[in-house]
Amino acid sequence: MIIVYHRLKDAPCCCPIKRFEQEVKLAKKYGFKLTFDDGLKEHITIALPILKKYKMKAIFFPITSKKVFPGVRWIGQEFMTWDNIKELHENGMEIGCHTHTHPRLSRLSKTDQEIEIKTSTRIITRKIEKPVWFSYPYSSFNNATVSLIKKYGYLYGLTSEEPDYLRLKRTDTNEFNIWCKDKIER
Ligand SMILES: [Zn+2]
Repeated sequence: MIIVYHRLKDAPCCCPIKRFEQEVKLAKKYGFKLTFDDGLKEHITIALPILKKYKMKAIFFPITSKKVFPGVRWIGQEFMTWDNIKELHENGMEIGCHTHTHPRLSRLSKTDQEIEIKTSTRIITRKIEKPVWFSYPYSSFNNATVSLIKKYGYLYGLTSEEPDYLRLKRTDTNEFNIWCKDKIER
């Protein structure tokens, strides 16, 4: 399971801090992946110390522009600095792409989508390293978005949508055998 966090705060809008700590413990036990969208300041002040405490790695998806696409979710929000993002990376966290200004990509032309993806990818690559994880803002994307994230070298694109159960991948026995060998030798 891959979990996504936005706001961490003891308030009705958000994931309360005590609950977050319990969830980190459980995620570690069951091998779930934790992800944090939008590059909020509380991901540094609240999430990072708890992740370090339980030696958990996570993926963070900061917005790379200082000017975000307007929206109610940003009212009163504080964002991380690049020093914060570097600190995450130095602590073994991965940094992924969540676009430059956080638009609904499916509403943009392919050219405008490419500007969002390209700009953000370049900045993260220059400041940290080439990102391989992409998180679609608002889980909004279309075929053009998927072809663009392939073009820019992303290996994984994250949404909150249900997976396509009519296209589930099966693993060939030979591939499974390689996995088994690896487990037996350990
Ligand atoms: Zn977001």
